[in-house]
Amino acid sequence: MKIGIDIDGVVADISNSIKEFFNINPEKIKDYDLTKQGITQEKLIEFLNPQTYKNMEPIKDAAESIKEISKYHQIYFISARNQYKEVKEHTIQWLQNNGFQFDKVYCGEDKKKVVQKEGIEFIIEDNPSEIKRLSQITRVIIFTQTWNTNIGYLKNTTRAIEWGEIKRYLCPNEKEQ
Ligand SMILES: [Mg+2]
Repeated sequence: MKIGIDIDGVVADISNSIKEFFNINPEKIKDYDLTKQGITQEKLIEFLNPQTYKNMEPIKDAAESIKEISKYHQIYFISARNQYKEVKEHTIQWLQNNGFQFDKVYCGEDKKKVVQKEGIEFIIEDNPSEIKRLSQITRVIIFTQTWNTNIGYLKNTTRAIEWGEIKRYLCPNEKEQ
């Protein structure tokens, strides 16, 4: 199968970067749109810069789990990042530096179109509005974050709170272990 994986909030710990840049407790981030939490659009643009992306910490167990998943499936990283010209190049460098296996990387393209074009059968996502859109056309694993705990029931979705769970779900041989 082709597996789509979002980056920020799924394999890159944006929550920790927000904490450091804005000095706010990540537990308090209840809305994906930070401008609804008193952060201005200008500050947000300032935050999403090459340095922030370069310094992001990988999410625990993500790289190891994806390595295992890639033995059975093709890995497509699909990110909305489009803040500046070199963002895709920087993203690929970050993925490589942090030991992530992948077949292809998409940055800044409409995710629904990418899923349709590539025939992605599963996508792992944390953004509530993307989860709603994508679950209309493919199966979605919701990666739990404080900003997506309030989504009600949606067909074609399941939830995971950590990468070990996703690995067990997507790797047939892992289930018995
Ligand atoms: Mg995300």
